[in-house]
Amino acid sequence: MRYAIIADIHSNLEALETVLDDIEKKGGFDELWCLGDIVGYGPDPCECIALLSKYNHLSVAGNHDWAAIGKMDTDDFNPSAAAACQWTTMQLGDTEKEYLNNLPQILEKEDFTLVHGSPREPIWEYLVSASSAWQNLSVLRTKYCLTGHSHQAMVFEFDDMGYCTSHVFTDNAVLQLKSNSIFINPGSVGQPRDLDPRASYAIYDTEKQQVINHRVTYDIHTTQEKMKAHGLPVRLISRLSYGM
Ligand code: ZN
Repeated sequence: MRYAIIADIHSNLEALETVLDDIEKKGGFDELWCLGDIVGYGPDPCECIALLSKYNHLSVAGNHDWAAIGKMDTDDFNPSAAAACQWTTMQLGDTEKEYLNNLPQILEKEDFTLVHGSPREPIWEYLVSASSAWQNLSVLRTKYCLTGHSHQAMVFEFDDMGYCTSHVFTDNAVLQLKSNSIFINPGSVGQPRDLDPRASYAIYDTEKQQVINHRVTYDIHTTQEKMKAHGLPVRLISRLSYGM
């Protein structure tokens, strides 16, 4: 089986389409796993939900998915994120609201836990250090964990002694799954924040027991033009050019 792993689409249709095309070129997938934040920030929330829904997929909820339907307030959002969230809410129809409302906080599939933030704080915690991975290990009920939220492609690997080391999950890097626990963040499809503006995703091959990360260039200009036309915050438009 081949699973495509995507996270943090953030209403970026051009990025999502490009990623799906790229996966197809690389041999396709049996099921798509999405780690939340389908909406928020970008110009095409409904289109992204509709495109995702065409595929055999699983998804968990992200903080932006919840905020867009009022399941969570935006007090902890920065002003740009809050403004984009307000705009997103106005675009959503009943179908999209119901879709987002039905997303679970956590899913277990094969040897993996799927979550947006972390196993102990599924919606909110940023898992960005070896110590936060270590603190979450006791909560993890599967061998491996997939997270999003930080928009940074990263791997946190435990060794036989229980020590955890982290490294960046670079383009085309092959991660061989072993008996020890691993936390994997495939990076963000629609708003990367690791100084590489290319869309990021991963493919899990169950036969080879490998997860491979991929980066792909998409039409950032078109996304930015749509955001300008909708009056979305300038900071959110410009950051796409820099991946930050
Ligand atoms: Zn996000």
